[in-house]
Amino acid sequence: MVNKKRIETVCVQGGYTPGNGEPRQIPIIQSTTFKYDTSEDMGKLFDLEASGYFYTRLQNPTNDMVAKKLCELEGGTAAMLTSSGQAANFYSIFNIANCGDHVISSSAIYGGTFNLFQVTMKKMGIDFTFISPDSTEEEIHAAFRPNTKAVFGETIANPACSVLDIELFAKVAHEHGVPFIIDNTFATPVNCRPIEWGADIVTHSTTKYLDGHGVSVGGAIIDAGRFDWKAHADKFPGLTTPDDSYHGIVYADKFGKEGAFITKATAQLMRDFGSIQSPQNAFYINLGIESLHVRMKRHCENAQKVAEFLSKSDKIEWVRYCGLPEDKYYELGKKYLPNGSCGVLSFSVKGGRKEAEKFMKNLKVAAIETHVADARTCCLHPANATHRQMTDAQLEAAGIPPTLIRYSCGIENAEDLIEDIAQALEQI
Ligand SMILES: *Cc1c(COP(=O)(O)O)cnc(C)c1O
Repeated sequence: MVNKKRIETVCVQGGYTPGNGEPRQIPIIQSTTFKYDTSEDMGKLFDLEASGYFYTRLQNPTNDMVAKKLCELEGGTAAMLTSSGQAANFYSIFNIANCGDHVISSSAIYGGTFNLFQVTMKKMGIDFTFISPDSTEEEIHAAFRPNTKAVFGETIANPACSVLDIELFAKVAHEHGVPFIIDNTFATPVNCRPIEWGADIVTHSTTKYLDGHGVSVGGAIIDAGRFDWKAHADKFPGLTTPDDSYHGIVYADKFGKEGAFITKATAQLMRDFGSIQSPQNAFYINLGIESLHVRMKRHCENAQKVAEFLSKSDKIEWVRYCGLPEDKYYELGKKYLPNGSCGVLSFSVKGGRKEAEKFMKNLKVAAIETHVADARTCCLHPANATHRQMTDAQLEAAGIPPTLIRYSCGIENAEDLIEDIAQALEQI
């Protein structure tokens, strides 16, 4: 049943099929609450005995239509939207790891996620071990502890542009009886579907390519529906023992492998933390997804051309883009991203921070922004912006050289982007 249609068709039509005389576009259900005839009806919803809507902090029909489309796109069994990518990654871990638990994460991850794990979740008593995205099988095994509850990584890391060996990370996670969670923001389901390579939970910052036009912050979690929580019941008591806040239901029993994870994240985490997507923003995300397959193709074509130009320039120290045959991740890219990776690349101009800053100031088509993966080309100098507080030595340790420029190719004309870069390089 799932994914009968090809990905392009799901981008346009997935998640919502109107009946006779119903709206063609998904309706925005701009309502905080929902009306019932009897208190008994309402009571069943509160006991999770019946499914339905009662309060938009937990669930909203517009959000669920968009979540259903993302679920179809990623090939999962259940999905939910969140107010941001940060909330999605937080929920994905906190749904199965508690105070006293441990999680293994690739060190090549988005800076915001690193802060969430290393600073904020650490305060909650969850310990993270960061390992290289290039870790060998033995190195991943060695990071496990008896209290490890999950392994986390990014398909294509922001801003390091490394490509993760998804099959390997998933395999080792499964050998230790824990799920592999992957943030698929940069690749999008158009270019990679991690569930097909063994991932259990997929997360997104929908703020990036899924929205694609820089209009709404959002996130999503999709469950592959394959992880057998009951087979590892001692590790995941939250899913396999009674929840007192819902009259003792056991999520893994009542909702099965297919539904337990997302139902628990909705019923507990969304109820208590309230990081709900607004239905209006969910509508914008859906509009973006309708053209995702068309845009990703152009993002990738532009990035390939820009990367090739940069790799030949004598003013450039290095370029990272897995579409370049000389790139360290070219082979992994060919395996996991055969149709293209994404529009984001990173590079360094010869010289130091001064040259990097001067180069960026000279750009006229690309704008300096704390944003990425947008229809409009933008760029950022992490050492001078998002990672400004770090010393050069700390930056190197985090895999972000002080001169790294993150350049996110939009869907403009590639020749205009290249001419813009060329004139900016001329001036340094
Ligand atoms: C931006 C981003 C996030 C955080 O998402 P927000 O929507 O900004 O909260 C998480 N992961 C990756 C890979 C990102 O690029």
